[in-house]
Amino acid sequence: MVELSMLGGYTKPERPESKNMLRMDTNENLALPLDLIKEVMREALDVDPRLYPEQYDELKVMISRYANVSKDSIVIGNGSDQLIDLALSVFCKGRRGVTIRPTFTFYRDRCMLHGIGLDEVMLDDEFTFSSGSINGSGADVCYICSPNNPTGNQFSRDLMMEVIEGFDGLIMVDEAYAEFAGYSLKDEAAKRDNLILFRTFSKAFGLAGARVGYAIASREIVDVFNRVVQYPYPVSSISLRAAMAMLRRVERVRRVIDGLKAERRWLYEQMSSIGIKAFRSDANFILFDARRDDVHARLKEDGVLVRRIGQVGRYSTCLRVTVGSREMNEGFIDSLKRATSA
Ligand code: PMP
Repeated sequence: MVELSMLGGYTKPERPESKNMLRMDTNENLALPLDLIKEVMREALDVDPRLYPEQYDELKVMISRYANVSKDSIVIGNGSDQLIDLALSVFCKGRRGVTIRPTFTFYRDRCMLHGIGLDEVMLDDEFTFSSGSINGSGADVCYICSPNNPTGNQFSRDLMMEVIEGFDGLIMVDEAYAEFAGYSLKDEAAKRDNLILFRTFSKAFGLAGARVGYAIASREIVDVFNRVVQYPYPVSSISLRAAMAMLRRVERVRRVIDGLKAERRWLYEQMSSIGIKAFRSDANFILFDARRDDVHARLKEDGVLVRRIGQVGRYSTCLRVTVGSREMNEGFIDSLKRATSA
C-alpha cells in the first residue's frame, strides 16, 4: 500500500465551480451539438436495465461496418483506457515495455502500477523517432500513440510499418484520435498476430461520458481477449446503445469532424499570426509553446481551461488546447491574446 501511494496516478483536469468556463483541456468533441447527443441518449435509454447488457454483438456488427473489419476482430471495452490496461496487465506481465516520450501518460502510469519496466524513446525536434530505436530496444511490448497525445502528429505509415514488421514482440497502437488524421492501421491489426489497435467513442463520436472503447486485433488475440481477459459485462447497455445510435448518425459525425479539421487549421493560423509557436496537428487538439509560465493561469482566470504539458523537446512552456466550435476557438484566441500581452 505504501508503495502504491508513492505512484503519481492520472491527474484529472481541474473543474472549477463556474459552469461558464471554456473546456478546452480534455479533447472531447464539444462541436457535436448537445441536442444531438441528448436525442441519442433518449434513444439509448430504451433498454430494460433489469437485464445484463446483451448488445455487444450488435455493436460489434456496427463497428465492423464502420471500420470495415470483421466482427471477429473487435473487442469492446469500458473506454479504451480499460482495454489498454487489461492488455498491459494480462499480456505484458513480467515483460519489458518501450514507448515514446512524450506520449499519453496513462500508459506509463499503468506500466508502473503493474511493475512493467519501461524504456522511453525521446521524440526528436520533428516529434518523430527512428524505427531502430524501438526495434532495437530489446523490449517485449511497445506502445505508440498515433496521432500522438500531446504532440498531435500522426507518425507516417511507412514508419509505423517498419516498427510493425521489425519489432520482436507485441505492438499496441493507440488510435484514439485517428478519425481526425490521415489513415488508420485497422486493416493491418486485423490480419497480424503482433498488433492491437485501440480506438474510442470518446473523441470523434462525442461520448466521453458513456465510456465505450474498442480494440481491433487478429481473431486469435480477440478470441482470447473476449473469452478469457475481458469482464463478462464491461459496458452498460445504455452506453452500448448510445454508441450504436451515434454510428447510425455517422454521416453527421463525419461532417462535424470535417468542420473540426477546418477549425484546427483556423486555430493554427490564428495562433501563428499572433506569434505563438503552434505545432501542426492530426488530432482534435493543438500543442503550442506559450513561451512564458503564467499563460495557463491567466487563461484560467479568463475562463479558458487548457492542459499544461510543460517541456516538449526544446520547448519548455507547452500547453495543449482542444479544437472546439468556432465560437469556442474565437473565445480562446481572444483570451490568449490577453494572456500573452504584457
Ligand atoms: N488514448 C489516448 C491517447 C487518449 O488521449 C485518451 C483520452 N484522454 C484515451 C486513450 C482514453 O480514452 P477513453 O475515453 O476511450 O478511455
